[in-house]
Amino acid sequence: MSADAAEPTRPPSVDRLARSLADSGLPHPVLVDLARVAIGDAMAADDPGSAHRRAEALVRDRRRRMLQGVVNGTGVLLHTNLGRAPLAVTTAGRASNLEFDLGAGKRGSRTVHAGALFARAVDAEAAVVVNNCASAVLLALAALATDEGVAVSRGELVEIGGGFRVPDVMAQSGARLVEVGTTNRTRAADYGDVADRVAVLLKVHRSNYRITGFTEDTSVAALAGVRDADPGTPAVVVDLGSGLLDAACPWLPDGPPPWLADEPAARQTLDAGADLVLFSGDKLLGGPQAGIIAGRADLVQRCARHPLYRAFRPGGLVLSALQDVALSYLDRTAGALPFWRMATTGPEALRRRAEAIVSAIDGAGSAVAVVDCASVPGGGTLPGVEIPSVGLALDGDRTAALRNAEPPVIARVDAGRTVLDLRTVEPDDDGVVVDALRTILGGDASLATPER
Ligand SMILES: *Cc1c(COP(=O)(O)O)cnc(C)c1O
Repeated sequence: MSADAAEPTRPPSVDRLARSLADSGLPHPVLVDLARVAIGDAMAADDPGSAHRRAEALVRDRRRRMLQGVVNGTGVLLHTNLGRAPLAVTTAGRASNLEFDLGAGKRGSRTVHAGALFARAVDAEAAVVVNNCASAVLLALAALATDEGVAVSRGELVEIGGGFRVPDVMAQSGARLVEVGTTNRTRAADYGDVADRVAVLLKVHRSNYRITGFTEDTSVAALAGVRDADPGTPAVVVDLGSGLLDAACPWLPDGPPPWLADEPAARQTLDAGADLVLFSGDKLLGGPQAGIIAGRADLVQRCARHPLYRAFRPGGLVLSALQDVALSYLDRTAGALPFWRMATTGPEALRRRAEAIVSAIDGAGSAVAVVDCASVPGGGTLPGVEIPSVGLALDGDRTAALRNAEPPVIARVDAGRTVLDLRTVEPDDDGVVVDALRTILGGDASLATPER
């Protein structure tokens, strides 16, 4: 349908088109913007009648791009693009005693809530919470070593991803990087050679890579020895990143799973003599995005009193969620946190769910196979670690169609097949998976109650 050349068609009214899309739930100003684009596109295509259809497509696309919950079928437990550790957060919608001392009835501090509980959980004198581990590192270096030296092994000048590079963070903090050792071997004596010229001996966990072969590493205990031998006593600071709280995993009935072997933990690192440990809230801790600084009370105080703390402090929502997480570690129920529950579910339980899903999409179910697959911890932790898992496979790349589901289902493509790893799918979302697969495959059935 093209406009008549002699009598050009007037473009449809932007406002009228926007109002006709009100059912989408998007607010009017956003609909006006989309209507304007749709009309522009329709006029450019010389097809004013297509404006409504075009606008509907833009609305669908806009809604799909909104921040929302998704079903993580990737098998990556801490998927950085999918918000890392999943966590349900509820709030009362009230004011809170975030900075109010209910005992004394006067101004209090937001550092006393989750921080104190985490200090107890890792047996530290004190702890303070910031927005992520990157800000924990920047704050600790700024508070302890501005205009002073910080010794780091050449094998630990890490890039975590997203632009977090240890030398750059060091420069931003105002501290001076003092490289010691070599890429593959750094000994206690290398730190000892510079100990009288630095304020901090920094150890950075090689979270996302390994160095193998002819290697030598300096343990935290050896670093503490270097510190104690030096009259200037530099502080031993360990950037753990991943945030495993206790290597013994007392919150898991069967103790630590084999794939966690060798992962350094906050409690044991402090035990070995670190003055401060820094770790993320949303990696192996299984909490919200946060960074935790725990250790000697005087050093934690220096961090909390530094002006950057004011810029890095988290809000009440995060502190409240972290308080719940800390309580669950202290009463040893943290195994029920979504991350730990997903990470430790046995393959048999996943297989039962996979089979229930396939039988629920009966009819088209033969197009879906139950397959063995491998999940990974992700989030830049535990490189090379795989956790045996069970998932569903379809021929070809069906990931775009699965992303169209509501909520979107995120799968991966492996050797020409679309694989949906059930380890990272919340069991309550199995029905969503069934509906998404039925829509793709044109099947017709409802989910039989899966055994769990
Ligand atoms: C992940 C990581 C960081 C950054 O943590 P965020 O919480 O993502 O800011 C810093 N250091 C190490 C060693 C890490 O593994």
